[in-house]
Amino acid sequence: MADLVVERPEGLYCPPGDFHIDPWRPVHRAVITHAHADHARVGHAHYLAAAPAEGVLRARLGDISLQPLAYGETVEHRGVRVSLHPAGHVLGSAQVRIEHRGEVWVVSGDYKVEPDATCAPFEPVRCHCFITESTFGLPIYRWPPQQEVFAEINAWWAANAAAGRPSLLLGYSFGKAQRLLSGVDASIGPIVVHGAVEPVNRAYRAAGVALPATRLVSEVADKADLRRALVLAPPSVQGSAWRRRFASASDAFASGWMRLRGTRRRRGVDRGFVLSDHADWPGLMQAIAATGAGRVIVTHGYEAVLVRWLQQQGLQAGAFRTEYGDDAIEEAAAAGTGEDATP
Ligand SMILES: [Zn+2]
Ligand SMILES: [Zn+2]
Repeated sequence: MADLVVERPEGLYCPPGDFHIDPWRPVHRAVITHAHADHARVGHAHYLAAAPAEGVLRARLGDISLQPLAYGETVEHRGVRVSLHPAGHVLGSAQVRIEHRGEVWVVSGDYKVEPDATCAPFEPVRCHCFITESTFGLPIYRWPPQQEVFAEINAWWAANAAAGRPSLLLGYSFGKAQRLLSGVDASIGPIVVHGAVEPVNRAYRAAGVALPATRLVSEVADKADLRRALVLAPPSVQGSAWRRRFASASDAFASGWMRLRGTRRRRGVDRGFVLSDHADWPGLMQAIAATGAGRVIVTHGYEAVLVRWLQQQGLQAGAFRTEYGDDAIEEAAAAGTGEDATP
């Protein structure tokens, strides 16, 4: 049985179906797992993506030829059946299930197994071969339950508000920022967001995700409000003129990388909150086991460590080299969107 997904210079490719998955170079047909910049790029002739991703994809990529597909619905192309299943990573994120002559492969995209209120929860899909991400594919990565993390964030915000200083919380503008918004206690004070965050909030609200009220700095009439505010911005604002408006702020970074000692210090922030939209090591193990796959192909992270571990468990395991990066790549682009950009 020939492989259903192979490596090509332009990206992962399904030979019998003649389409690519999250290609990094322009192709004819692209199946897109989610709208983060390293997975969803401009320049493809045709896009297929999960229906809930439509708003964020169009907000990022503009006028593309996009076929939205409901989760679990099947399209058939050249005898290959393709369906999309929730990956629990960000709004509209999907795993791609590919079936051809009884053989089933699943490409995970980025995923997280702990459910949250901003996107459909991860759904295990049985398959013969599972192509998994491994952003946090080391045994040291273990996330605390998100309720604990949100309790820490709320306590930090409340203490700052009581002391009359803003709380500047840094997190990626697409996905992380909305998850933070949905988890914080909005009764503590006003919430102010950077201009790169608000357009994404709009796409989430339009898709039916409940988020607390947010304002741009320019919309805060009484600047005294800022002293009690939670200010949400991408990490790229560090060192910028925008950041200097909140000179007295306590700052914090929300990321899975905060699990590593020293990361907070290197980031130069007061606090680090361990909150990731990727699976931790136990999450990867749980997801891989739930597929029942006898073969696993690792991408996007700590390939060698995870491949060796899977082989020790008796699985057939290998790696694909991809050009997916840290989701922070999108922040480099977002940094150029300016201050309080209100379209
Ligand atoms: Zn992602
Ligand atoms: Zn990614």
